Amino acid sequence: MNIAIYPGSFDPITLGHLNIIRRTAQIFDKVVVCIMINGEKDTAMFSPEQRVRMARRVTERIPNVEVDYFNGLLAEYSKRYDKPVVVKGLRAVTDFENEFTMALINKKINPELETMFLTASEKYTFLSSSAVKDVARHGGPLEEFIPIEILDDVRAIAGKGKY
Ligand code: ADP
Repeated sequence: MNIAIYPGSFDPITLGHLNIIRRTAQIFDKVVVCIMINGEKDTAMFSPEQRVRMARRVTERIPNVEVDYFNGLLAEYSKRYDKPVVVKGLRAVTDFENEFTMALINKKINPELETMFLTASEKYTFLSSSAVKDVARHGGPLEEFIPIEILDDVRAIAGKGKY
């Protein structure tokens, strides 16, 4: 079975992430969306539990996708699977620089681990979780950025104004 691991902070999951997940699910037998809890960005708005819950809700109708979380190194997590491939989305040159370095580091730690890149759909090249958080904090419209199933959650949490 060909397994893809799609790691990230997903704080929160966006339509750009979902686009990569759907496309990856058409290529691989199984996709594991892995919410990485280590290296927590200081700007995290959603707890790991909230992020997992939202990611599960928006992917529940895609049969070969599951959502997991991990506190540690991706190169270690990936050892749970037989020859998995790490999939990452590339939006711009800046993504490329970071992702290229990460892929090389992962390969140093786990030489069997391959990383593949999918180009972002042009509809979503502008979209990031940080942008979603900025818009949410200011009560702006989120319909074009995040899946409809999590609109209320994101609005409610962002609306608490702690961030
Ligand atoms: P962000 O950069 O939005 O905070 P993550 O750290 O959760 O997101 O990113 C996880 C993966 O998803 C990374 O490979 C990132 O490049 C990719 N990604 C994020 N947003 C998009 C998008 N709009 N289109 C395609 N890929 C994306």
